[in-house]
Amino acid sequence: MVTQVSNISALQDDKLTPFSELAAKPQIKSDVLVRLATFLQTTLDYKQLLTLFKREIASSVLVEGIEFSNAEHQVHYLDGQKGPHSCNYTLSAQGQGLGEITFFRTTRFREHEMANLEALMGTLIYPLRNAMRYRSALNQAFKDPLTGAGNRIALNESLQREMELAKRHGHDLAILMLDIDHFKTINDRFGHLVGDEMLKATVNTITQCVRQTDICFRYGGEEFVVILNNCNIANARLIAERIRMDVSETVLQTQDDNFLQATISCGLSVYDANDTLENLIHRADIALYKAKNSGRNKVCVQEQTKKEETV
Ligand code: GH3
Ligand code: MG
Ligand code: MG
Repeated sequence: MVTQVSNISALQDDKLTPFSELAAKPQIKSDVLVRLATFLQTTLDYKQLLTLFKREIASSVLVEGIEFSNAEHQVHYLDGQKGPHSCNYTLSAQGQGLGEITFFRTTRFREHEMANLEALMGTLIYPLRNAMRYRSALNQAFKDPLTGAGNRIALNESLQREMELAKRHGHDLAILMLDIDHFKTINDRFGHLVGDEMLKATVNTITQCVRQTDICFRYGGEEFVVILNNCNIANARLIAERIRMDVSETVLQTQDDNFLQATISCGLSVYDANDTLENLIHRADIALYKAKNSGRNKVCVQEQTKKEETV
């Protein structure tokens, strides 16, 4: 089947793609636009927004699927089905790119239908911009501003969710609690700004050692937690060991050409179906304490049986 794509670019601000004298004019009554605009103001969730939009425009233009993507906000969403015919628009509001929207259908879009779609889209631009801003604010609220790692709120939410999934599906789940060794000395000798750089470099190294699905959180000052989902004790040890080695090999060059290296101690615990979030973190904390007390720059495991060991 041949796909016919109608490409219409850049809806600038409130202005829709200019229609020439010969081009089809939209035939949407103003009360339909007012009703649609009112509806679209009821949510800041972009998925709900697109679903609402698709439902509300159905009486004016039949659309079987809407795909929206925004690279900046890492959004890619499809509501409904992709069809062989599509028309695609680049969206912007006040000169700022808002992403791309594509409408799909089994049958070809006619000129007057595209004109109608464009008129209807005028009501979508600003609610969509607000939804993107809201999403960005929400993401920031879960991030540590210095390192970009998840914060404590994000850790609690993610760990609770991963524990539930591990319990339901019988998956393995491990966590690492990591603490930079003698970090206070770095601050004392080189200043807090250099200390901050060391924190950022450490998060970079940690995230490079783990899969994209494994998330790093800042637990406190120079302490981090990594959630390793679908990871058994043997693999968790390997990952922890890799992080430990990579951190010790990372060299930070300061502005006045000092070259710094830090080491990290790591406590590891593995989820047990009876664990609470606090238990699991507490065991990783005990293991970390053991690593510190047995010389630092080490990985220790605290098992449920209260056995501990050093890698
Ligand atoms: P240990 O090996 O036992 O972990 O020793 P340590 O020096 O790393 O641990 P300690 O708890 O004595 O010191 C942690 C330091 O981390 C003290 C605190 O000032 C510093 N710190 C906490 N948050 C930040 C931050 O955001 N930036 C900087 N630069 N330092 C921080
Ligand atoms: Mg420390
Ligand atoms: Mg500490």
